[in-house]
Amino acid sequence: MNTVSLDDYRGVTPKGTLQFLRCLAERVRGRRFLHVNSTRYGGGVAEILHRLVPIMTDVGVDAHWEVIKGDPAFFSVTKALHNALQGREELITKAMLSHYVDTNRENARNLSLEGDLVLIHDPQPAPLINHRPAEGKWVWRCHIDLSHPQRQTWRHLRKYVAKYDGAIFSLPKFSQQIPIPQFLVYPSIDPLSDKNRELSQEEMDGILMRLDISRDKPILLQVSRFDRFKDPIGVIKAYRLVKKHYDCRLILAGGKAQDDPEGEEVLADVREEAGHDPDIHVLELSPDSHVEINALQRAATIVLQKSLREGFGLTVAEAMWKGKPVIGGAAGGITVQVIHDVTGYTVNSVEGAAFRIRYLLENPDLIAKMGEAGREYVRREFLITRHLTDYLTLLTRLTE
Ligand code: UDP
Repeated sequence: MNTVSLDDYRGVTPKGTLQFLRCLAERVRGRRFLHVNSTRYGGGVAEILHRLVPIMTDVGVDAHWEVIKGDPAFFSVTKALHNALQGREELITKAMLSHYVDTNRENARNLSLEGDLVLIHDPQPAPLINHRPAEGKWVWRCHIDLSHPQRQTWRHLRKYVAKYDGAIFSLPKFSQQIPIPQFLVYPSIDPLSDKNRELSQEEMDGILMRLDISRDKPILLQVSRFDRFKDPIGVIKAYRLVKKHYDCRLILAGGKAQDDPEGEEVLADVREEAGHDPDIHVLELSPDSHVEINALQRAATIVLQKSLREGFGLTVAEAMWKGKPVIGGAAGGITVQVIHDVTGYTVNSVEGAAFRIRYLLENPDLIAKMGEAGREYVRREFLITRHLTDYLTLLTRLTE
């Protein structure tokens, strides 16, 4: 894990933030704060924890991060649960649910689950609550879009969630009827990570050359796991509509998360849809391609995140931080990040996306203006320092 110091954020975060954080941290110094999720690499949760855990340590919290293990069958079940909780129809049998619960029991035996506050991220490790130690508060941190869950699947998960001392959601509309306190916390990006830090022209040129991306025409970019909810096929269709009027490139950059078994199949469909168009670049990136994604986001003219369902969509904040307008699906956390007509546009269809892309390409001044507004909005709302403030406040409130 990287070493990070809160002082490094001076001049990046809004004025007063660091001083406030130091005071808050003083009140929870030495308390054990444990995070548990299901993958060390890939996806937004891992992305956040890689940065948040070291910075918590820096301010004096005894922060730890554990990852549950499972066989491929376990991750197929949890992916099916994830899909069903985000509204897709899935066949989930009793045998599958037993495997889910058994795997968690097995993990509980092998992990150290002590903490003054234990934050369990997402559905994969949720049944760990059955094995909580006598001491400490347990909070379920939900990162997914729970606005339209398949009821039966939610009823099953709810049995575990109701045993927690609290639940955190990324949007008010994801909250559910549960007999425990609920909190709203937006995720965040780290402006100093390799994914988001400033890059020199030399670094940019080198990376784009290695990825074989030329900047001879406007670049449309979507960065995301190859997942149907991210609608990569819809992105290609929108690009094709735009391409009739504007010569441009499309980059679909993504990789596989360790806990996502569907990526391979979606990637194959994306490649088929892309065909032999030399201006469509489908890039399969390794999980450590942070500077590569950084360079692609900086090289992009417009960033797309055309998700149909979205927990939060860190890629949106990442792009806005780099001064790019974002055209995003009107789903989940995208709707709180993209201020329609100010930092980008939210859209509901392929045609809508294509229309907004064309409009922006015709108005380059607007691209710059929206990009600037987006960066300042991220500075205020979606940086890791704000996230840290929320978690320390929770630690204060639940463990004092
Ligand atoms: N990401 C990455 N490599 C990829 C695809 C995505 O590093 O190939 C990163 C992306 O930059 C972002 C995170 O993974 O930081 C994805 O988070 P988001 O909330 O957008 O989506 P999730 O994958 O959690 O649904």
